[in-house]
Amino acid sequence: MNDSPIKRAAELLLKGAQMLNQPCPICISPIYKLPDSTLFCTTCDKKLIYEKDNALTNKTQTNTKINNPILNKIKELTNMLEQEKDLAKIVEIADTIKKLEMIDSSG
Ligand SMILES: [Zn+2]
Repeated sequence: MNDSPIKRAAELLLKGAQMLNQPCPICISPIYKLPDSTLFCTTCDKKLIYEKDNALTNKTQTNTKINNPILNKIKELTNMLEQEKDLAKIVEIADTIKKLEMIDSSG
């Protein structure tokens, strides 16, 4: 009962949101624009994302996908290590992994 759409709308207005002429595409209730330009439907209790915002989310997704060649090498060597039977080689691979990890953590 505390969370009725009317109460949510009142809270948004208090925060400086504006009621727009645009209807919500889902429930056709009026939607609200927050000071940070987020669009919100109080009936659906949902943020509305339009194409403009989608471009923004795509941008943030590419940033998180960083290819780290050192980490890839460590993974490769770890696989080699699991299959290796020769003790001298195991030591050599383990040593290489250690060195690569040091390079990676030093930035
Ligand atoms: Zn809605």
